[in-house]
Amino acid sequence: MSAHSELVAQVRRTGTLLDLPSGFYLDGGFQPAASGRVMESLDPGRGAAFASFARGDAGDVATAVASARHAFETVWRDMAPAERGRILARAAQLILAEADRLAIAECLDSGKTLNEAEGDVRGAARAFEYYAGACDKLEGKTFPLGAGYLGYSLHEPVGVTAHVIPWNYPISTAARGLAPALAAGCTVVAKPAEQTPFTALMLADILTRAGLPAGVCNVVTGTGSEAGAPLVAHPDVAHVTFTGSVATGQQVMRSAADHVTRLVLELGGKSPVIVLADCDREAALSGVMGAIFENAGQICSAGSRLVIERSIADGFLEELVARARRLSLGHGLRNPDMGPVSSAEHLAKIAGFVERAKARGAEILTGGAATTDPETGQGWFFEPTIVADRPAGDELVQEEVFGPVLTVQIADDAEHALELANGTAFGLVAGIYTRDHGTAHRLARRLDAGQVFINEYFAGGIEVPFGGTKLSGFGREKGLEGLLSYCRTKSVAAKL
Ligand code: NAP
Ligand code: MG
Repeated sequence: MSAHSELVAQVRRTGTLLDLPSGFYLDGGFQPAASGRVMESLDPGRGAAFASFARGDAGDVATAVASARHAFETVWRDMAPAERGRILARAAQLILAEADRLAIAECLDSGKTLNEAEGDVRGAARAFEYYAGACDKLEGKTFPLGAGYLGYSLHEPVGVTAHVIPWNYPISTAARGLAPALAAGCTVVAKPAEQTPFTALMLADILTRAGLPAGVCNVVTGTGSEAGAPLVAHPDVAHVTFTGSVATGQQVMRSAADHVTRLVLELGGKSPVIVLADCDREAALSGVMGAIFENAGQICSAGSRLVIERSIADGFLEELVARARRLSLGHGLRNPDMGPVSSAEHLAKIAGFVERAKARGAEILTGGAATTDPETGQGWFFEPTIVADRPAGDELVQEEVFGPVLTVQIADDAEHALELANGTAFGLVAGIYTRDHGTAHRLARRLDAGQVFINEYFAGGIEVPFGGTKLSGFGREKGLEGLLSYCRTKSVAAKL
């Protein structure tokens, strides 16, 4: 057995991973909560606790922000960008070297399959690699004021940045925020979701071992109300990157107003996948499957609405249903096709959406019920679910379920598909499947979404800016634009 499969076997036997971090990450090391309080993290695949972690409050947050502010002013802001880049590059290497443990921790904590967790860890390493190379390329401009003047701009780091992270992509969301913030010369206080605290803590420890000075990256764990709210309200926090629900995002925005704190809000979505009659059928089928059943549908950019042209709808749906029925469910460590959802409360929320749809007369083409791991009878699972054509105003068309539930909408033609696709209050991403590239790019321009995928849902990577329109939020992460989120432009104009 390889060391990796031995570790997986051991975790399956014992139900936990040894040597998980147990405190906050403050000022370059692990520390318990000042109050000594802890809370438990649950394994959604078993529906049982597997480890505990520190439960922070406003006092712990203040300690972390003070540490980040001190590190910003004394060491990180003024470090040579090339040196910052070397540290981030070493972090990318260490993440890959420690990928097995990181992925297993993520799998236990979030429920996602080990394969998906491994992909997320590689993505996190890639984010550090990408921004490592960008540190020393943040060039300013000169302004043509004529011979008697010199005008130029500087990209300055904004200061202490707060990162509030959700449970569905814990290490990926942490990395896509931390890497550009650190690259820009900002320092960090991160607050992972209470359901998934561990990989952010492990990442902070890796950064220190890669050479990051103490205090540059701090992580406070705990609940949103006890630790998240005081963090985003802290007067010394210059910028907040918040990824989560619309309702919490709105609270964060109100709270940021008090100190005119900068914000990037990555909120929910109800993203359409448009499938036109002339598509590559196989590409569209596998694209739609991945768009809604990957990570059990708990993806902000999930393709949760299939907007399909009428002439091909029946045959396409028949095959889609057959594929959904073939998906295996189980504990993430066994690498089934689909893992559990994140918590008992979240499972009840998903089931509520489907029950209400049934009560409105919706036809459930497949799935539609909560279930358990077929091997153990444990855990919080929801069957892969497809709901037949719903009218544009239906709750299942308008509201984010954040689970493995696909809603179908039938379109008469491409123009009608566009109208249906744009018919929600969200605007995160959209997918298009057609062989006609003219149609694809014409629709791409008119889709109300921050990112459009053509002929491959989720195409792209850290190079491509990501973020929403409308209720899906504002600001962009990823790409060079993501780096500029952590900079403020200073213009200098001098009379010579
Ligand atoms: P959530 O309840 O809004 O939680 C997100 C984060 O905010 C968690 O860390 C949470 O902490 C924290 N939080 C809660 N209340 C807070 C407050 N008053 N002040 C500051 N922080 C607070 O979201 P969720 O339901 O866990 O996550 C799923 C949602 O995230 C979905 O709507 C999904 O679309 C969205 N999402 C968006 C993206 C994107 O990039 N656009 C990516 C992933 C997810 P606790 O969990 O500890 O309470
Ligand atoms: Mg957990």
